[in-house]
Order: sequence, then structure tokens, then C-alpha cells
Amino acid sequence: MPLLNRRDFLRTGLAGSLVLSTTLRAADSPPASRNTTRSGRAKNIIFLVSDGMSLGTLTLAERYLRRHKNRGTRWLGLYDRPDVRRSLMDTSSASSLVTDSAAASSAWGCGHKVKNGSINITPDGLPRPTILQLAREAGRATGLVTTATITHATPAGFAANTAFRGDEAEIATQYLDRRIDVLLGGGTKFFDPSRRKDGRDLFADFRREGYHVARDRAALQNTPADGRLLGVFTEGYLPYDLDHRADDALIASVPRLPEMTRAALDRLSRHEGGFVLQIEGARVDHAAHANDIGGLLHDQLALDEAVGIALDFVANRDDTLVIVASDHGNANPGLNGSGGNFDSRGGSYGDTGKCFERIAEISRTNSWTLSGLNADSTSAQIRARVAEGTGITLIDDEIDLLGRALRKDPSPREGYRVRNSPMITLAQIMANYTSVGWTGVAHTTDHVELAAFGPGSESIRGMVQNTALFGVMTRALGIAAPTSV
Ligand SMILES: [Zn+2]
Repeated sequence: MPLLNRRDFLRTGLAGSLVLSTTLRAADSPPASRNTTRSGRAKNIIFLVSDGMSLGTLTLAERYLRRHKNRGTRWLGLYDRPDVRRSLMDTSSASSLVTDSAAASSAWGCGHKVKNGSINITPDGLPRPTILQLAREAGRATGLVTTATITHATPAGFAANTAFRGDEAEIATQYLDRRIDVLLGGGTKFFDPSRRKDGRDLFADFRREGYHVARDRAALQNTPADGRLLGVFTEGYLPYDLDHRADDALIASVPRLPEMTRAALDRLSRHEGGFVLQIEGARVDHAAHANDIGGLLHDQLALDEAVGIALDFVANRDDTLVIVASDHGNANPGLNGSGGNFDSRGGSYGDTGKCFERIAEISRTNSWTLSGLNADSTSAQIRARVAEGTGITLIDDEIDLLGRALRKDPSPREGYRVRNSPMITLAQIMANYTSVGWTGVAHTTDHVELAAFGPGSESIRGMVQNTALFGVMTRALGIAAPTSV
């Protein structure tokens, strides 16, 4: 199916619909504010996503904080509150029991199951109005915050229509056309004229439409407090939180997720008509794909800080629907009993508690550790680099295993597979020390955690389909969700 440009979008499915015509008209003039705090109605919606968060990830974050900070996660702290609804969510897509982030976010964003890889276009080829377009129509300001590219699947699922999630250059132009008020994340390459195939300078186009454009942390901090904001801080994804905190240059130039969350809430809450904001901890998913326990844990903890900022924001108000969820599981990490962990000399690596303690010694992601190694690395170099990044001193057999993976031995012809990659080989070796094992390297079909409170959350209970959250949000906003377009 060809990509839909704006004209196609108007022509197919939505042409003449009240929703789209008023949405486009509204794009050129700020929506009027209105009283939206009637019973069951929400002035604001804050939707927090940990991308690719299996329950084991949340459990490990909880255990880590209890052990090292003497407190639990803000996320699980919600479960003690009588006003919080907690549910398990079915995440399957129109094309698979195992969703991708595009189909998962689209289910929330338009209320329909779509095929993996597509964003808010149903299997019959129709683009569907998105939650942020509808929110804008209902007088709300809109925002997206992520640690991936701002044009990545999860934020795009609330605001864009495209048959291919990889068409991030197109998604960037749709954000401009649809006047998303706050955009914070990575992905300058999709805005930069020297990197876009069409040569368009989207940074200039956003400025022309009145956006403040921030390209680094200082600019974000110094941006005037009102008006629309595009903040894009890295060429691609933002760094993993663990690597960010270890690098002074990154600390100076790139904001962390909690800082972006605060900036978005500060700005959007000035809009008297209210707002709808999605905040995504995107790299939890990437670390799970890599079976990288250090990267995973610390990006989950960063997302939990963002949850805390959102909870503090709504602490003294009753006009905000807060939803905290994951879009799908990934690789199912879990702390296993360590009785079976023996080293090559027949000794035990230690009890489970000691294994878990080793995670606290990890100072860099496995991506960082492996970025300093290659097929020519010596055993001494492998030992030193792994020790520097993970705090673990490998034994000779393990260095040999990792060295073979770095040399792609066995070769692809002889059975080289993803689980033989250096990344997964290192993760499997580390599992002997940390006792954290993984079921795979990809998304899972597992049900995921969902918690919500505030006006509109009352209907959430038991097991829910991911598509149901679209109705929860549109009802909370006082919008009659379109039954067909
Ligand atoms: Zn993924």
C-alpha cells in the first residue's frame, strides 16, 4: 500500500467528516478553553508508557529500590491506593499475537487493532483520527515525550497516520501539520534538511509556525515558558540512562526523561483548556531486546521518576486522568534462584541476594561495553572491558565464549543466530553472575500491567483490550468517539 500523503489522507475515509474538517480548521487558531471538569470528565490526561516492560522488569526495579533506596517504585506504590484501577491488558495486534509498538500505540491512539508496523491505519487501509487530533478538537493542548526518536512508533501512535512506522520523516511533517504543542525526544535526522530525502528544513518550518526549537539541554532550560516547543536533542535515540549519567558531555547536552517530563508538564499545564500528554520510557524495550540488565533496570527507574513527577503534579487535583501502562512484554527478564549457578571449578557463584547485588555494580550498558570490543580484541582486553562496564571479572572459558561471538564463530553458515551474537552471549554469561535470565530477545504475547486513576478511569477493571483505552480517553475528554469514519 502506498504511503498516504496529506491529500490522500483527506481523500480516503475521512474526507468531509466533521472530525477531520474541524481538526484542520482548528489547526490555524488556538482552540477555545471550556469547562471540562464535570463528573467523569477529565481536563487533562497523562499517559505514561514503559515500552516493552514485562512484569519481571517492574519487579526488578521494585526489588532494586527496596534494597538500595529503602523505598519502592512509584508505579507499584499506586497499587495500594483505593482510587487506582489496576488491570491486565491484552496487547495482540490485527496481525499477530505478539504486537509491535506501532500497532500497540495505535490501539490506544485510535481504538482499532492495526497490523504490526502500521500506525493508525486499519487493515482495510483507512487512516483513523488519532487521540491527539481529537484532544485538540476538544480544546486540549497536546504533547509527546520520549527517549526514542520523537517520531518513533509509540509517540506516533497518538498523533500520526502512516502505513510504515519507519517513515519517520513523514511522521515529523504530520506533527507540524497537526500542531502538536510539545514534542521532546531524539531524532534530529528526521528534521534536518541535509538528512531528509526531500531536503526540507523542518526545524525552520516549525520555527515559522511559532514553535520554540531546542537542540540541547541548555536551550530547553532557557526556552520561554509559553508557546509551542520542539525539543530534539540527539540524532537518533537518547542515550540509555546508565550511559547518560556516566558521560559528562551527555549530561551537559541532553536532558533525561524526568527533566523532559517536567518541562512538558510545566508548559502544557499553562493551557487553561487542559492537555493530553504521552510520556514514553522507550529504551526499556531496547535493553530488553539486548538482554541488558543494567540498561533495562536504569531506564525503568528513569521512567519511574517520570511517573513520580506526574503523580506529584496531580497530587492536589482531581481533574486529571493518569494512565500508566506498558505496550507489550519483552524478553521476560526474571531473577531466578541461583542454586544451579556453578562456576567451572564446581564452586557456586553465590546466593540469589549476592547475585542481585552484582547488578548494582554494573556501571555501563552492555552496548557500551561491547562498543569497545571487536573481532580482534585480545583476552586481556575483553576481561578488562567487561570488568569496567559490569564489575564482573570473567573466567577464561567465558572470555573464550565471548571472543568467539565477537569473531562470529561459528559463522552464519554453520548456525550463527541472534542468540550467538556478542550482545546475547555476554548477557547469558552475565546471567551466571546476576541470576537474571531471559526467555528470548523479542516482544512477548504476555499480558501487561495497566494502572489508572482520575476521572474516566472508573470503567477500567479486570482484563482489558488495549483498544479499550481509546474509549476511556475519549469519554474522559467528553468526545463522542467516532463509530465509523
Ligand atoms: Zn521492541
